[in-house]
Amino acid sequence: MSNEVPPESGRGILFIMSAPSGTGKTTLVERLVSDIPGLHRSRSYTSRPQRAGERDGVDYNFVSRERFDAMVRDEVFLEWADVFGNCYGTSAADTEAVLARGDDVVLVIDVQGARQVRRRGIDSVDIFVLPPSAPTLAQRLRDRSEDSEEAIARRLETAYREVSEFAQYDYVVVNDELEAAVGRLRAIVTAARARVRGMRRTAEAIVQTFVRG
Ligand code: 5GP
Repeated sequence: MSNEVPPESGRGILFIMSAPSGTGKTTLVERLVSDIPGLHRSRSYTSRPQRAGERDGVDYNFVSRERFDAMVRDEVFLEWADVFGNCYGTSAADTEAVLARGDDVVLVIDVQGARQVRRRGIDSVDIFVLPPSAPTLAQRLRDRSEDSEEAIARRLETAYREVSEFAQYDYVVVNDELEAAVGRLRAIVTAARARVRGMRRTAEAIVQTFVRG
């Protein structure tokens, strides 16, 4: 458990985290949300087939391509993207429900999705997670042994396009060592929560204690 203070009542903060596949973002974000009260991970909808060990309604909401397309038409998504031939999207209503009750939410989405959120002018704190280097990323993908060499080469090409977008984000975290990277992410959440925008009510109440009756 951490010393993090949950945000005061009012709207929560929207965090966006992007990283090329194999960077370890799933582990990072799981650590972050279990360490920090009042911070939740958004559950995306996807048309990609469920992998062994994944749970529907926990890791993702798995839906058919037809259902996904219908959700796009019905404007269910805050953002959505086609990644490696499969569709992924964030429910606008689910995200709004968390923010409206004053909790914070982190969207783990690709660079196209992050761009859409920015284009909509939605206030968010954007974090890009980088691997230490391309060879390290290639090694991690090989160790995972989920992909063929051809698939790994394709992922590295995509990763190169993604990492080139780091400057569009507010923060960069290099995932060189898990504990260190989690520590940096926690510092970002702490800093975002300390902004005047979120602390105004608390600060004004303290200021009032200085005023003589
Ligand atoms: P995977 O299939 O390996 O779980 O995810 C592939 C990619 O899709 C990752 O880069 C992940 O961040 C991204 N992704 C997952 N959910 C969403 C989403 O709701 N929207 C967007 N734009 N990307 C997503």
